[in-house]
Amino acid sequence: MHDDRTLVEARLKRVLDERIRPAVHPESVPLDVAVWHAPGEPVPVADGLAATPEPIAVGDRWGAPWGTSWFTVTGVVPAAWAGRTVEAVLDLGFDKNMPGFQCEGLVYRSDGTPVKGLNPLNDWVRVGSPVEGGEEVRLHIEAASNPVILDYHPFLPTKLGDKETAGTEPQYTLARMDLAVFDETVWQLVMDLEVLGELMAELPVDAARRWEITRAVERALDAVDLQDVNGTAAAARERLAGVLAAPAAPSAHRISAVGHAHIDSAWLWPLRETVRKVARTASNMTALLDSEPAFVFAMSQAQQWAWIKEHRPEVWAKVTKAVAAGRFVPTGGMWVESDTNMPGSEAMARQFVHGKRFFLDEFGIENDEVWLPDTFGFAAGLPQIIRAAGSKWLLTQKISWSRTNTFPHHTFLWEGIDGTRIFTHFPPVDTYNCSMKGSEIAHAARNFRDKGVARHSLAPTGWGDGGGGTTREMVAKAARMRDLEGSATVTWETPAEFFAKAEAEHAAPAVWAGELYLELHRATLTSQARTKQGNRRSESLLREAELWCATAAVRAGHPYPYEQLDRIWKTVLLHQFHDILPGSSIAWVHREAERTYAAVAEELDALVGAAQRALAGDSGRGAPLLFNSAPHTRDGVAAGGAAAPATTGETTVLPREGGGHILDNGLLRVEVDGRGLVVSVYDQAAGREAVAPGQAANLLQLHPDFPNMWDAWDVDEFYRNTVTDLVEADEVAAGDAPGSVRVTRSFGRSRVRQLLSLAPGAKRLDIDTEVDWHETEKFLKLAFPLDVRADRYASETQYGHTYRPTHTNTSWEAAKFEACNHRFVHLEEPGWGVALVNDSTYGHDVTRAVRAGDSGTTTTLRASLLRAPRFPDPETDQGVHRFRHALVPGATIGDAVREGYVVNLPARYVAGEAEVAPLVTVDDDAVVVTAVKLADDGSGDVVVRFHEAHGGRARATLTAGFPLAAVTATDLLERPLAGTPYEHEGGAVPLSLRPFELVTLRLRRSPDARP
Ligand SMILES: [Zn+2]
Repeated sequence: MHDDRTLVEARLKRVLDERIRPAVHPESVPLDVAVWHAPGEPVPVADGLAATPEPIAVGDRWGAPWGTSWFTVTGVVPAAWAGRTVEAVLDLGFDKNMPGFQCEGLVYRSDGTPVKGLNPLNDWVRVGSPVEGGEEVRLHIEAASNPVILDYHPFLPTKLGDKETAGTEPQYTLARMDLAVFDETVWQLVMDLEVLGELMAELPVDAARRWEITRAVERALDAVDLQDVNGTAAAARERLAGVLAAPAAPSAHRISAVGHAHIDSAWLWPLRETVRKVARTASNMTALLDSEPAFVFAMSQAQQWAWIKEHRPEVWAKVTKAVAAGRFVPTGGMWVESDTNMPGSEAMARQFVHGKRFFLDEFGIENDEVWLPDTFGFAAGLPQIIRAAGSKWLLTQKISWSRTNTFPHHTFLWEGIDGTRIFTHFPPVDTYNCSMKGSEIAHAARNFRDKGVARHSLAPTGWGDGGGGTTREMVAKAARMRDLEGSATVTWETPAEFFAKAEAEHAAPAVWAGELYLELHRATLTSQARTKQGNRRSESLLREAELWCATAAVRAGHPYPYEQLDRIWKTVLLHQFHDILPGSSIAWVHREAERTYAAVAEELDALVGAAQRALAGDSGRGAPLLFNSAPHTRDGVAAGGAAAPATTGETTVLPREGGGHILDNGLLRVEVDGRGLVVSVYDQAAGREAVAPGQAANLLQLHPDFPNMWDAWDVDEFYRNTVTDLVEADEVAAGDAPGSVRVTRSFGRSRVRQLLSLAPGAKRLDIDTEVDWHETEKFLKLAFPLDVRADRYASETQYGHTYRPTHTNTSWEAAKFEACNHRFVHLEEPGWGVALVNDSTYGHDVTRAVRAGDSGTTTTLRASLLRAPRFPDPETDQGVHRFRHALVPGATIGDAVREGYVVNLPARYVAGEAEVAPLVTVDDDAVVVTAVKLADDGSGDVVVRFHEAHGGRARATLTAGFPLAAVTATDLLERPLAGTPYEHEGGAVPLSLRPFELVTLRLRRSPDARP
């Protein structure tokens, strides 16, 4: 037979596009339209409904950037349409290629009840089925004219990303506002032909099934009268029934479709818009659940649920009803879909505490699965946190975005730094926006790498990024693929149902140990430095606030600010969302984040101050007491206590031969040359030089930085090809503070001021850097070439540290050319190491070179300070920034941990007459306390969380500074764990910890000991 395949395929495309799809709405009449443009920010629904609108016509421009317009559409269903299905087709001027990135609307009835959302691929509202004719129609649309930021030519700088710079030019043209007859049979024919046409294209050309479908499609097209599609659609469908009824092969891949809408909590829109995006999507999904009995929808991010509850009670009522029916499913068990590289230990834990608690409190539902489809890589500390939160499964598809290496598994066990293993699934469909296209379903089946031992995968199905969710078309296509020859099978299921099946069928999954590094978006560790600094400062302040408020509550009966801390934590957790903390949002988001962090800092400072005054006594008399918030003794003051600090020697500053200065405190001898570079850091006890011979540390290096795509997200490896060393100094002089040197430099349009200081008694060179940054598309690094040979280096992550190689033997290591640290990076030769600690930078790189002269190895450690991408925020990082780093020669991992806390926690002094004893003491520095707080349940129990921080075994004694009634190990949500209770005697609790083991203890106080 002749091969006429392409002829049939081209015919199918043209007839569908030009004749069959237009016949879905064969008759229509225009609606009358009026509009009221809200003058500023969004108004309450009642105000929008009550406003007096002005007439507007289809074809008119509307919608200033970030504006809100309330449309009122009215009309009467023609009497001639009696008995038919009628819809309003409301096209606000949508570009169908941009669901989630355009104008959007939420349709209301006049009484304020929401009907459903409108977006580019969901522009209809059902009026009646069947109608009687003569019905009056009156609908209201709260329309948001969100401008397009990510356009057809993506990544061009735009001023549209902030209301303050976006202007007032209308963004959209009102396209269609009609009442229309909906022909269900034609619509079903479209679905039949789409599913078969898309399946056909995926089948091998020599497969009989492909030809069976081709011939059936041809027969169906023959049956369509192109002048009477509506009258002949049923006959065409009959000719497809046979091929649609053929069942799937027994070995077919099995897809669990989960209805979903990925909604970025802020990104190319501000937080306030997400509140409305969530309401629109949730309204659409409750409407879809009503009409599609097999459909299931899952929504993550407790914060988004909380927004619906707070701002859209009428939508919340529908959502809670669907949750009770088990079909609108909370998933993920986190406050937001956060970044997981940068959040500190406690913050990462609290994402789960607040997320899971919300779903437990509202619905009694506990999530076992973690849902992070779009997060930019996964820190090796995360598995233990997932387990400690009481969860056991993880889903993400993001690692499929890696540009260099292909991850070898889709279903596997992910092993974290402490040995915790989490059953993990990467949907092989490689998207969180599956739309049930044949190409996606076939890709999932082909791509799935665990064939032969597993058969199930998950497909998050629905429009996302900016929301939208699943459409009736996706549900219709899924129904046809439920059991269809040549296709993977598709069944609607909850994430938990999928994971239970996947785990049951996979007896011995492969294991991946260590971080899940995303080989893309590496610049998210640096972009928007002020947002990152706000996060780090907030995390440190929350530690201080909980510690001192708990201590003051127990010691002085000071009221514990439960609700305030709860609220602040949720604010900080929201800003760890995977486009806020990573710095990939529009200017509006980051400008607002900076203000929010400032308010958080003010509030927490006040809490800390009040608690410390309550402890020190309000008299204002006495010597300054140092309140030590760190987990280790500081200047002679016990961790968690307050006392007068011990005095410790002095630092001398001498002129250096050849220019510059020499700082010496008896522990370190530091030479700063005439260029302000550190040419020697000599560890006097070890008799060892830290800086590589002939090189200089504290070297600022400037690179051009214009990635091929995703400006705020990406730094491409070629940035290293060009570098300018900033060695010219404007001034190098002894600093005002004792033991310090001041350095000033200018470059480009920017200026740097540094203070290098060697505190008495400290084995640490402090480097405070202030940059007034006015560069474009540049990357600023602070380099430390060290005379250390190390195959690997350690970077702090949650509840421990992770190792990465310093070599680039394979493509996997070469791809990690920019990586994440928390407070420290550490590298060592046996017996002697160096740490670089920081107060707010996350990105860094480590490279090594073997020197020609002495064959020694130089390992260069560089902190990433600033970038200047122009998309999506054209002014990213412009202005003044302050960073604090410290070089710690001779450092063990334990020293790195300790000094990391020191640079992040300010020394706070309060005048007081009596020392404050710590609430909790641990007698081994390897056991690091990350939180001391009162239990969230208001019982007054003290909760203390700690972990083994050196990567070894620890035996220690925890001593409570109050009479103990009982000690219970708990999960992160402070719920008791099964097992024997902890022994305690005289307030002392013996501890034994595995490497990096995380433990939460609830300490019940003796009733008679309460103040
Ligand atoms: Zn996202």
